[in-house]
Amino acid sequence: MCNHYFLKMEISKNIKKAKSKKSPKRIIKYIFSSEILLFAVFLFFGFFPFGYFNRNVNTNRTINDVQLFNPYQNVNWDSVGRYRANLHSHTTLSDGINSLVELVEKYEKLGFDFLAVTDHNRATYPWGNFGVENSGSQIQAIAGNELSHGHHVVSLFSDFQASRFRHPTVNRQLSAANRYSSGEARFFMAHPGRYVPFVWMLDSPLWLYNIDFYRNLFNRFDTLVGMEVFNQNDRYRNDRMIWDRVLSELMPHRPVWGIATDDNHGNHFGVNKVTMLLENSTKNNFRNALDNGEFFASSFGRFNPAVLDERHSKSGARWDYVPYVTKIYTCQINATITIEAQNYTDIIWISYRGREVGRGSTINYRKPVIYRFLRATIINEIDGELVAQTLTQPFGIK
Ligand SMILES: [Zn+2]
Repeated sequence: MCNHYFLKMEISKNIKKAKSKKSPKRIIKYIFSSEILLFAVFLFFGFFPFGYFNRNVNTNRTINDVQLFNPYQNVNWDSVGRYRANLHSHTTLSDGINSLVELVEKYEKLGFDFLAVTDHNRATYPWGNFGVENSGSQIQAIAGNELSHGHHVVSLFSDFQASRFRHPTVNRQLSAANRYSSGEARFFMAHPGRYVPFVWMLDSPLWLYNIDFYRNLFNRFDTLVGMEVFNQNDRYRNDRMIWDRVLSELMPHRPVWGIATDDNHGNHFGVNKVTMLLENSTKNNFRNALDNGEFFASSFGRFNPAVLDERHSKSGARWDYVPYVTKIYTCQINATITIEAQNYTDIIWISYRGREVGRGSTINYRKPVIYRFLRATIINEIDGELVAQTLTQPFGIK
């Protein structure tokens, strides 16, 4: 039996060989049986952005099903105070060029209410230890630290310092910082655009900082409240695109708030800010507003706002050019969101995968193109030039 079997194989091999020698398909066969194909498959699955084609918006819902989650629903617009904050800055104790005293002085001049000094892997806090008199300063200190092993993450309300050996990954750093601060600390991802140079890389399983990385991290850590959408003017233009992709994955169940910071190393004072909506300027209120998304992110983009201060010979005159939200209200019957604002020329509404879905102060959130989330970019243009913009936090759509 066995001999017979091997004999058959031997014959068929010889027939194949004979055929293939004559056949013009030989080269094609060679390609399909070689490492070339393996390598091509590897490239295809590794780098091809499959998610790019996965763009079908699910409109499989009836109009009346649409539910809105409004992060500003508990804000009392008549009584709420607005507090200016920069949550990312550096001193000479890491790679900044200003001492803490100089830094605080400059932010005070620009009318900031809160400042987080976030030197790399070290807590420059409390400020009293670094020459700033607590009583002499009007500006409130928020303990901070930029966790800088791997994807940078800004840590607030905690003086936790990560060690390269014990906490080499973002997951380890966040777990340890949460434990250390008993859940008091809050975090946001710094300049995601640095880690995702091309947005399609989010869809590559071979890229470390892909969409799964962000999704898993935000699902794992409740204290991770958001990500930077503007950093140092607008250093990484991908920041907002990455934000919209993450929102498209996680909304409406897991909001990710957008944060604009100076990431000041000495040359970026008041180019970006967040405006916190607080009844009283306590740190607890600040943390709650950060959790609930009760704030706005503003940026001068590529524009240099020092020009505006000089024009009016007053430090901080620039803020008169930043779109200022006076009120946001929703109407369930008409399914609309309306933004009342000052210092603006237009409002752009953005939804699933960063698509523009409308313009103007009111939007109907039942439009079928609006899916999972809706956010507004309020822009101020002067002579056709974009001077400043204010971003609302995302509304959830279900
Ligand atoms: Zn930084």
